[in-house]
Amino acid sequence: MADADWLRGRIRDIPDFPSPGIVFRDLTPLLGDVEAFRFTVDAIADAFAGRRVDKVVGVEARGFILAGPVAYRLGAGFVPVRKPGKLPWRTESEEYALEYGVDRLELHADGVAPGEQVLIVDDVIATGGTAAATVRLVEKLGATVTALGFAVELTYLAGREKLDGYDVVSLVAYS
Ligand code: AMP
Repeated sequence: MADADWLRGRIRDIPDFPSPGIVFRDLTPLLGDVEAFRFTVDAIADAFAGRRVDKVVGVEARGFILAGPVAYRLGAGFVPVRKPGKLPWRTESEEYALEYGVDRLELHADGVAPGEQVLIVDDVIATGGTAAATVRLVEKLGATVTALGFAVELTYLAGREKLDGYDVVSLVAYS
C-alpha cells in the first residue's frame, strides 16, 4: 500500500550536499518510480480536491516537476516562478534571505491576476524562505494564496513558521 512511509523509502539522503552539514533529500528515486511519482502528484492534488484553484504556481526548478502535473489534475493553469533574468516578459520580483546574502525570485506580471485562487507547489520546504517569497509575489499581483503543497517538509528548519495563517500540506516530514 502506498503511503507516506512507503514514499519516504523512495527519497535518498545525501549527506554534505551541496555543502558540509546539509542533508540533501534527493527525490530522483521517487520521481523515477512510476508508482511513487503518481502517488506524490495524486496525494498533493487530492489534498485540494473540491477547492477552487485557478493557478498552480511552481518554483524553479524541482518544483516544476510536481506543480505541472498537479495543475493538470486540478484543472488549473501552471505558472512558473523563476530565478532572475529567466522570464522573458515583464516581471514582479521579491528578495529572500539565504544563509549568506539574498536571492530573488520572479513571476510574470500577468502570471496570476486579482481574484484568482493560487496553490503554490514545491518539492521541499526547508527554511520556508522560498515559499514565503513566492506568497509575497502572488499577493503583490492581487491573487489569493489558497494553500501550499510540498512533497517533503524539513520540520527541524521550521519553515511553517514563515507561513503562519496559510494552509500548508506536506506528504513526508523529517524531524
Ligand atoms: P527554503 O527556502 O529554505 O525553504 O528552501 C527551499 C528550496 O530549496 C526548495 O526549492 C528545495 O528544492 C531546496 N532545498 C532546501 N533544502 C533542501 C534539502 N535539504 N534537500 C533538498 N532540497 C532542499
